[in-house]
Amino acid sequence: MDSFLVYVGDVTHDLGSSIAVTESLILHDFTFNEMVFSHAAPAEVDITVTNTGAGLVAMGSVAATLRTECSRCLEPFDMPIVGTVEAFFTTADKAIDLPEGQEWSPIQGETVDVLPGILAAILVELPIAPVHSEDCRGICPTCGCDLNENRCECPSATEDTNPFSALQALQDEND
Ligand SMILES: [Zn+2]
Ligand SMILES: [Zn+2]
Repeated sequence: MDSFLVYVGDVTHDLGSSIAVTESLILHDFTFNEMVFSHAAPAEVDITVTNTGAGLVAMGSVAATLRTECSRCLEPFDMPIVGTVEAFFTTADKAIDLPEGQEWSPIQGETVDVLPGILAAILVELPIAPVHSEDCRGICPTCGCDLNENRCECPSATEDTNPFSALQALQDEND
């Protein structure tokens, strides 16, 4: 989906009124930090849009189950995340009175598009390097075997590049 329009016709003229929206959304796959994320299930959105006078504040949560590859062992896995949705909508004439730097999106007729706020809420929850388990051993850089399931006889690349183990090797030689 390219937008998630919420009808706000009932709250735009009524200060303090709000509308609750609960919806399951089928969202696009996306790439972040060169990793592909697909949605293993619809994203569950639960937000409230409130008329604060200056505009409409949308606040709530999005729960998504993202399928991606473990950055260490390359196995696909599902990663549940919960993000906080925050978006502010107003009209161009009211936006003039906003504090400097306050971000806003336009109220489009009697609707607001909450999708950008939902996607942003998901993005900030993504780890730089997703791992299927905190103690994933990854794959051997030499023979490519999955070190979670196998052991190999290859010299460990991490030891070779570790300056302290190199120092240790030198000291061992001098002994
Ligand atoms: Zn892994
Ligand atoms: Zn190996």
